[in-house]
Amino acid sequence: MNLVVVSNRVARVKANEPMTGGLAAALLPVVEKSGAIWVGSSGRVRDGATKDAFADIEPLGEGAIALLDLPAAHYGGYYEGFANSALWPALHSRSDLIRVSLDDYRSYREVNAFMARALLRFRKPDSAFWIQDYHFLALGEELRKLGVTQPIGFFLHTPWPSRDVMNGVPNHRELIEAMLAYDLIGFQTENDCQNFASYLKSDLGLKIENNVVTSRHGTSRLAAFPIGIDVDAFAANAARAISHPEVVRLRKSVDDKRLVIGVDRVDYSKGLVNRIKAFDRMLAINPSLSRTVSLLQIATPSRGAIEAYEALQTELSRVVTEVNGRHGEVDWTPIRYLSKGFSQTMLAGFYRTAQVGLVTPLHDGMNLVAKEYVAAQNPVDPGVLVLSKFAGAANELDTALLVNPHDVDGMARALSMALTMPAPERRLRWEAMMKKLRNGTIEQWSSSFIAALEQTRTAEPVQYCDFPKRKAAADLTVH
Ligand code: UDP
Repeated sequence: MNLVVVSNRVARVKANEPMTGGLAAALLPVVEKSGAIWVGSSGRVRDGATKDAFADIEPLGEGAIALLDLPAAHYGGYYEGFANSALWPALHSRSDLIRVSLDDYRSYREVNAFMARALLRFRKPDSAFWIQDYHFLALGEELRKLGVTQPIGFFLHTPWPSRDVMNGVPNHRELIEAMLAYDLIGFQTENDCQNFASYLKSDLGLKIENNVVTSRHGTSRLAAFPIGIDVDAFAANAARAISHPEVVRLRKSVDDKRLVIGVDRVDYSKGLVNRIKAFDRMLAINPSLSRTVSLLQIATPSRGAIEAYEALQTELSRVVTEVNGRHGEVDWTPIRYLSKGFSQTMLAGFYRTAQVGLVTPLHDGMNLVAKEYVAAQNPVDPGVLVLSKFAGAANELDTALLVNPHDVDGMARALSMALTMPAPERRLRWEAMMKKLRNGTIEQWSSSFIAALEQTRTAEPVQYCDFPKRKAAADLTVH
């Protein structure tokens, strides 16, 4: 099978450069090892590019990447417009942040159609297409319109919200009907999958049997494929990274004090303001912790051209300044706030240096940082993960300290608990999480999706991933 992977951004990553997000981090090893061709935007636009696509092709491990210049006339409406000012807020249950026009929707559809035409040159009789994420909900339908009959799968990296939230997206019906051109539609969690199924049943009046929906396009299978990481490679990387000069500098600066780490793109879904407030609250209720612990928050700038993101940057700068002003001393800054990105190697060393990983999104498809933090720990003296129960990762990492990211006091208490947790309990919790991570690696994620995609064309029943139901983890939740 000739696999063609498609996403908006393609990781063109040198060892010492940051990833552009979880999707790039996840797909890079898949393409390197599988020999797939990975097609995406070059990040450049081109006038008059609506008809013919220009592709820059370069090797990537066993596979290759093809970078396309997208049509200048539609890029803004597609990317900053419909994708990131309508779909992204809705998918993260923030309908209040939807800002979109009909032109944005038209541009989104134009770019999906443009991508479909560009993909034809990579099609072979035994090809299968694997489309990634919310930028390309309608790409499958556009490919079908061009006569593509090969299997086409789709995986959504974000959550899928409840049906009333999706009803707030202009043109939602047309868009979700278009998604049914995919043979396989994959989600991060069972919950996302159920929300999608509920929309199909209630809003489109469709029947779903054994996770298969029948529509005018034919049949589409729905399933959850929780994304993982290359755990052993990440762990080895972290052990080596500890001697990287930048990591050594961090360790020296921390000295005998403790470090809490947060690593996020600046995005309203990440719960950054509440996190800073929780750190503030923790210092207020435990004055003895003053000078003994710092928060290193890596806040990689993201989508700065969109108003909601600009406003968040400003608010974050304000709260960080306030907290540092309130608790800081001449020789101690409580929060080290860095507006830049780091390579994953460096991050691995930072994670291993920190006694607590603080991952508190209000809503997140999976959150790979949570998994990376766990994988990077020293087995003898592991740190503690404080994790939002609204991150997809909480389904598997249920021995983390699970918190409600809207409850600032609860998070402050969880932080204190994490900082004082005895080593045997830390090890127990960490070992249980490592076991889960090893049972759901990135390799397993891609191979189970591809196997399910191939099976959509056979009479064989699909092996859906055996996704563990969220068990009664409430006893571990910090209230
Ligand atoms: N990342 C990175 N450098 C940075 C910040 C993040 O390489 O400075 C990577 C990180 O290692 C992770 C990904 O970007 O693999 C972020 O993925 P996550 O699922 O946590 O969030 P997303 O950004 O996709 O919403």
